[in-house]
Amino acid sequence: MNTSGQYLGRFAPSPTGELHFGSLVAAMASYCDAKHNHGKWLVRIDNIDPPRELTGATDSIIESLSAFGFVWDGNILLQSNRSDVYRAALHSLSAANLLYCCSCIRRDLKPHKHYPGFCVPTSLASAQSDVMDRLSVREASTSIRIRIKDSVRFVDLCHGLIETNLDQTPDDPILIRKDGLFSYALACAIDDADGITHVIRGSDLLDTTSHQIAIMQALNMAPPQYAHIPLATGLDGHKLSKQTHAAVLDPQNALALLGESWAHLGQDPFTFSTIGEFWNAAISRWQLNKVSSAIGG
Ligand code: GLU
Repeated sequence: MNTSGQYLGRFAPSPTGELHFGSLVAAMASYCDAKHNHGKWLVRIDNIDPPRELTGATDSIIESLSAFGFVWDGNILLQSNRSDVYRAALHSLSAANLLYCCSCIRRDLKPHKHYPGFCVPTSLASAQSDVMDRLSVREASTSIRIRIKDSVRFVDLCHGLIETNLDQTPDDPILIRKDGLFSYALACAIDDADGITHVIRGSDLLDTTSHQIAIMQALNMAPPQYAHIPLATGLDGHKLSKQTHAAVLDPQNALALLGESWAHLGQDPFTFSTIGEFWNAAISRWQLNKVSSAIGG
């Protein structure tokens, strides 16, 4: 729990497109778990990647959440307003001699599953002046990575114990991209460690979690609890995503879609005839352990 002892959940869409059925499933799971546990639920727009942002997507995401009856607590958070916080974190990671510049290009890394550590310096301390120089320029040049030497262990509420030894293969995450933008790993780690107690999201993000926890630990921030829920897939078996143009959520069809999403989450069925009725019953009947059994975890 955070310092106030209250459950704080979140839904964090990127405005790269409109919400689809997979987004509804993730939003529903995080919302029901927060509200069932008498907690708060925040909406955060992960808009730190302007080149991938779709004009108007933030507004349509918010409209769509309202149309499906979600009620969030407090103001909607925008990652684009948090640059100073991310920058301050980078300075403290550099002061701890954890950062280095990496000039690898995609082609160099293509044959490798993990980053092979080509640019890891022999002395991290002496790499920091280059890091500070790099932080002061915005134009495209090198990326900045964090050297992670520890293994990360966490218990996922759906998948159980996950342990990753991040030293065996240097798989150091990028914090500043080549184009000067903050990485998703950095922004998400800092924002989730800022009081969020439970991150319930799609299992496509399970692989990113060890890196995010490692970044939080390097910043002496406490990680939240995680639950990675089964992904919604299309008829072709592929993950529904904004990039693959999954069908946009249609508010005219809200009741049917809410019921389908509930079933996808492995929850016991019930009948309802309005959106309000659905949420009242869903929040009281929600069982996270049914989600884990839905993916055999
Ligand atoms: N913004 C990320 C996305 O839309 C998800 C972030 C998260 O839930 O951690 O894929």
